[in-house]
Amino acid sequence: MLDDHLHLDPVQGRNTEAVEEFADHGGTHLLVLNRPSWHLVDAATDEATFRETFDLTVCAVEDATEVLPGRAWPVLGVHPALISRLLEDGYTPEEAGDIMQTGLDVASEYVTDGPALAIKSGRPHYEVDDAVWEASNEVMCHAFELAADGDFAVQLHTEGGEEFEEVAQWAEDQGLDRQQVVKHYSGGRLRGPTKSVLADKDELEIAIEEAEPFLMETDYIDDPERPGAVLGPKTVPRRVRWLLENGEDEAVRVAHVETPEAVYGIDTEATLDR
Ligand SMILES: [Zn+2]
Repeated sequence: MLDDHLHLDPVQGRNTEAVEEFADHGGTHLLVLNRPSWHLVDAATDEATFRETFDLTVCAVEDATEVLPGRAWPVLGVHPALISRLLEDGYTPEEAGDIMQTGLDVASEYVTDGPALAIKSGRPHYEVDDAVWEASNEVMCHAFELAADGDFAVQLHTEGGEEFEEVAQWAEDQGLDRQQVVKHYSGGRLRGPTKSVLADKDELEIAIEEAEPFLMETDYIDDPERPGAVLGPKTVPRRVRWLLENGEDEAVRVAHVETPEAVYGIDTEATLDR
């Protein structure tokens, strides 16, 4: 079983211990997101700092794979809230957008020439002014362009809601299949991209009713200062067990085998060592 979106922090977090907890409860595969760059440096403004944050995640993923019966993959990118940090530091929205696009260029290099599986982009989940919103959408469209060129998926961090048809259209305008756009932290119902549903029972029930492809995630943040801020690493395996007990074998197959294969091209069965 796959957790589609979880963070590991090899510097301050539980890191491999969290992965062990996931595996102990039956978890097999993980997509590990880099933590926002400002947890490591004040704010990433150049290629070198982005590389530094990405390399940390790549190392964490190697360690995670050691303790998993399956494996982990890195998903690397630029947190959309970085734009606000950069504005505070005196950059204009355009300059901030350029810096973030540089980060995405580096991330996509880690996919095409390195160990990463996909990139992450998006736009702020909070109210921003028009110039910031516009620059953020441009950054996100740049991510779509990179993903279309390299034939890989993009995870999105965005505002909440169910209506993302326009965003899926933008991806298609860049030549990217909308299926390869994954809205992380999604509810059970979503128009547009593929949904990565937070492993909440009610939302999972809605996702199953909707009968569309979906993924499951915890968005575990591995931050010792915010214990319990999000779902713990054992939540996806627990929810899978609950689904199986309720006869939802088909939904489990959709979320853990078929959708990961369709979106990322990964085989969560062949990569199991048993
Ligand atoms: Zn996250």
